[in-house]
Amino acid sequence: MYRIVASIISLQQHLDSLATNPVIYRPRVCPHCSFGQLWSHGCYERKADRHGSSSDSLNPIPIPRYLCQGCHQTCSRLPECIAPRRWYNWTIQQIVILTLLTGCSLRGCSKQCRLDRRTIRRWWNELHEHHHKFEWSLRMRFPELGRSVDFTGFWQNCLQAMSLSQAMAWLDREGVIVP
Ligand SMILES: [Zn+2]
Repeated sequence: MYRIVASIISLQQHLDSLATNPVIYRPRVCPHCSFGQLWSHGCYERKADRHGSSSDSLNPIPIPRYLCQGCHQTCSRLPECIAPRRWYNWTIQQIVILTLLTGCSLRGCSKQCRLDRRTIRRWWNELHEHHHKFEWSLRMRFPELGRSVDFTGFWQNCLQAMSLSQAMAWLDREGVIVP
């Protein structure tokens, strides 16, 4: 939780924000001990740019880290456009999920999106696994999502109303663990 900085939806925007307004990344409280004082603690790097060729790639992408003065643990903040612990970004995951929601098979989706079937199956299984928790939190905040009856209807409504990264950033802010 508190890992995602909402509304930073492209890597270029992230690089610009880090250079001009880095204060927006600093967490208000430590995610480990809830203490209020965090110091900047450098950056680590992620190869988050999957689009550019090697010459115009934005990689490596710096991810700011913070050190808590209370418990001395570190934490980092990711821009909304980078998914925690995943190689692919949210935009690609959203395309896959929307394709599967139409009833497309894992094999068909794998072909269409040119992604490994095991990767697609993992995302799909994770969404099912966390569905009730995500659905409950999102419906509390966005009652207009509440009319659908099942998994498919809920996520079709949700991804029409907001992007997957927006939904995940919001869940993260609410303290729901985003896979
Ligand atoms: Zn702490």
